[in-house]
Amino acid sequence: MTQGSANGTDGVSKVNGVNGTNGIHTNGTNGVNGTTPKPSFGSLNDGLDYDVLIIGAGLSGIYSMYRMAQLGLRAKILEAGSSEGGTWFWNRYPGARFDSESYSYIFSFSPEILAEWDWTEHFSPQPETLKYIEFVTRKLDLRKHMQFDTRIQRAQFVQATNSWKLTDDQQRTYTSRYLITAIGILNEPTLPNIPGVSDYKGEAWHTARWPQGGEHTLAGKRVGIIGTGATAIQTIQTIAPNVGHLTVFQRTPNWTAPLRNDKISKEEMEKIRADYPDIFRRCAESYSCFIHVGDNNDTVATPAEERERHWEHLYAQRGFTKVLAISSDIYTNHEANALYSAFHEKKIRARVNDPEVADLLIPTNHGFGTRRTPLESGYYEVFNQDNVKLVDIRNNPIERITETGLRTADQTDYDLDVLVYATGFDAVTGSFNAIDFEGIDGVKLKDVWSEGIQTFLGLTVKNFPNMFMIMGPHQMFGNIPRSIEYAVQWTAEFIEWAMEHGVTYCEATDEGVAAWTEHVHECGKGLLANEVDSWMTGVNKNLAHKQKRSMTRYNGPAPGYRKRCEEVKHRGYRDFVLKKGGEA
Ligand code: NAP
Repeated sequence: MTQGSANGTDGVSKVNGVNGTNGIHTNGTNGVNGTTPKPSFGSLNDGLDYDVLIIGAGLSGIYSMYRMAQLGLRAKILEAGSSEGGTWFWNRYPGARFDSESYSYIFSFSPEILAEWDWTEHFSPQPETLKYIEFVTRKLDLRKHMQFDTRIQRAQFVQATNSWKLTDDQQRTYTSRYLITAIGILNEPTLPNIPGVSDYKGEAWHTARWPQGGEHTLAGKRVGIIGTGATAIQTIQTIAPNVGHLTVFQRTPNWTAPLRNDKISKEEMEKIRADYPDIFRRCAESYSCFIHVGDNNDTVATPAEERERHWEHLYAQRGFTKVLAISSDIYTNHEANALYSAFHEKKIRARVNDPEVADLLIPTNHGFGTRRTPLESGYYEVFNQDNVKLVDIRNNPIERITETGLRTADQTDYDLDVLVYATGFDAVTGSFNAIDFEGIDGVKLKDVWSEGIQTFLGLTVKNFPNMFMIMGPHQMFGNIPRSIEYAVQWTAEFIEWAMEHGVTYCEATDEGVAAWTEHVHECGKGLLANEVDSWMTGVNKNLAHKQKRSMTRYNGPAPGYRKRCEEVKHRGYRDFVLKKGGEA
């Protein structure tokens, strides 16, 4: 089940069949989707297998399916994994957990689910999150609409019938009027472009294809890990106490800050539950849909003592407070950012015993928060342990992976029992490139985006009619479940309207795409994050075609994003080319 650029290494392919669940399951749990089905497309979609096909059974696909079922449509989810969960199905590496507060990073649409589900930790670990997703699926009775172990290879718009035809890896085909892509933004693991990856004879895993129970096999072993992003940080701090020896191969250090996770007591959970309306209201009003809100103070003009006092206060809080509740100029003004980075540098130095190791852990090529800031729990202290070694591969790169481990440029050999690739993803467009999307007159999505992403609202693409992207490029990322809920809601409202009006064709226009793409670029101007290489700016140095920065996401405020989408709806979707029934 390894995919895309993760193909081709013996080690990684060992993780095939991460989960033993197979096939299509139904269950008899009563759903909460008891609304009366509305009239269907009638005979308009006769001859098509479905009204709507959805690719992916993560949060985006699950909510899409729920809304389609509410509309009484014939819909189906096709999912590559052997069970639902998406990101939280695949990413089982040790220590994987939310770094947003559990109670803000979930579905808000069902009061019944909010009433019944209890979180046990402020930042839910992956197994609990996966259980939550399974609970949601059961509760909404959606499994009967999901087909697992079905990897879509080709998605083709058929002009003669204004419909989509999907082909899976077993050459089975599926047709529908509308297509919803729910394929995630971090779903295609990439291995490093280092020679010899397939030569290694020990155990090797990409973190996104971690085998179930794999952490137990690490006890006492010599483990090497390549990467120091959010995934690596969670893995490193979790496995360091149990492994025999851990070597961390770091190319670029990242700024991080303490997560400060804690258990949630029953009483606290009741308080959180009572707070849900307020939590979701705060998310809806904030810039990127998180519960933490920043200010507009002038960082540089604020007296140093006052600044430090405020930052110390934030540093002591949970979660993204120290990333999001700061002054917004830290993300736009180099001087303000340098002051805040210096604050965090002091924190790192205070926690790492060896000043030379601390030097290596402090980023020098980007400021705090200009890449997606991972949160940590004891990460820096790991480097004070005797069984942990940090190797700087920026100045002394890995020359090759060998049969027994790896060799750095200075000809040092590192013998390893287990090699962990925490080397990230072909992000955002990678999930789309893994499927051969073909639109009008055979145009390929890959080609359309090869010179830069172009979308309308991050939801649609010209030449790809009737296709809606949940968490597509140019959409709000931020607090992802909040963004998913909005994108699904908008799409469901469109499809409901199309059904009521007999609309069988909907395509973005050149003008709409040009204006939206320009707006996305405009919103990104002045943000320091867009001056830095990261998956958020579309850079993946392991991929030849991703060496240059691109505008992958909507950088404006979430309320502004939603306003624009609502305007399109209120104009009766006139921004699209619309056709009814059998119109050519
Ligand atoms: P990532 O941020 O892209 O990090 C990949 C790491 O691998 C980087 O340190 C990178 O170094 C290194 N690397 C890649 N190729 C390499 C090579 N050829 N040689 C040496 N080093 C190499 O990926 P990630 O850590 O999986 O995180 C991706 C995103 O997933 C996060 O930013 C976050 O949004 C999400 N995530 C969320 C959570 C959470 O919420 N709890 C947890 C994990 C991940 P360079 O920086 O030098 O390229």
